[in-house]
Amino acid sequence: MPSEFEIIKIFFDRPVSQTILGVGDDAALIEIPSGHQLVISTDMLVAGRHFFPDTDPYKLGYKSLAVNLSDIAAMGAAPRWVTLALALPEANENWIRDFSKGFCDLAEQYKVDLIGGDTNRGPLNICVEIMGLVPAGKALRRDGAKAGDQIWVSGELGNAALALANLQQKIKLPDDESTALLKALYMPKPRVELGLKLREVAHSAIDISDGLVSDLAHILERSKLGARVYFDKIPRSSILNKYIGNEIVKTCLLGGGDDYELCFTAPLARSNDILSISKAMNLPLTCIGEIVQDKKLTVLDSVGNEMQMMQAGFDHFGG
Ligand code: ADP
Ligand code: MG
Repeated sequence: MPSEFEIIKIFFDRPVSQTILGVGDDAALIEIPSGHQLVISTDMLVAGRHFFPDTDPYKLGYKSLAVNLSDIAAMGAAPRWVTLALALPEANENWIRDFSKGFCDLAEQYKVDLIGGDTNRGPLNICVEIMGLVPAGKALRRDGAKAGDQIWVSGELGNAALALANLQQKIKLPDDESTALLKALYMPKPRVELGLKLREVAHSAIDISDGLVSDLAHILERSKLGARVYFDKIPRSSILNKYIGNEIVKTCLLGGGDDYELCFTAPLARSNDILSISKAMNLPLTCIGEIVQDKKLTVLDSVGNEMQMMQAGFDHFGG
């Protein structure tokens, strides 16, 4: 059984390319290029709360970095450095090998240096801190939305939540459909490239980790505005759409977490630029509504009626 130091040396001491001093000292050293701001975000994944303890370790390693990359993407920043604090119930070498491979494969893909962390024995817990760079003053913030902005989302929403609902047997899907949806749950693709492209186009952005309605509500709260969203326009997979009559599936689309797509707002005048970005990236970007002055979030159904489930959930939001 490897010791703590062996674990770090074997699995987490990786070559770095944009770091002055990485793993191995008391702390890491990085240099911030002039004219840039450092963007920092932390996310903790707790076994039993954010993932099932028996989740495939490779996918878990991947996802613990992916959710952090997603936060950097939502800021319009370029990811650069990451630290990893791990509590492990036992030093299971195979588990750690697969976990570190999932984490480091993604780090390599996005050119992020793993520059430090902490390794302890304890109930399984994964805490990642990510750092990125943005030209000074250019970050995409939640408080930048303007009345009249269009509201856009990337990709498709609700797949991860529907996969989870199926795992929890709240709905019963055929195997081929559940397999397709599980990819969204376990291996979300962080929209880093999109975030960088949106920097010159969008007024505000957030990544959808808790669900469209609650994450859009964060933009509205910080920007002191409201929104109208058209339910029929919310992009969804053909699998999800097949079951859209089911209330659980509606909730997956509007309120399901774990998609890690970006929701952003931009002036009408930039809609063609956004469609060009979509085309160039081969990534659907869909306008789902608009920002309004009245500080209320309304979701309208196909005939223009306010959806009831929204009224119940969002009483606290008005004001
Ligand atoms: P200290 O006792 O000074 O905190 P540690 O023994 O905890 O040092 O860590 C030794 C080195 O290994 C440090 O550079 C630390 O950042 C790094 N490190 C520890 N755990 C991890 C990990 N899971 N991933 C990456 N680096 C790690
Ligand atoms: Mg330590």
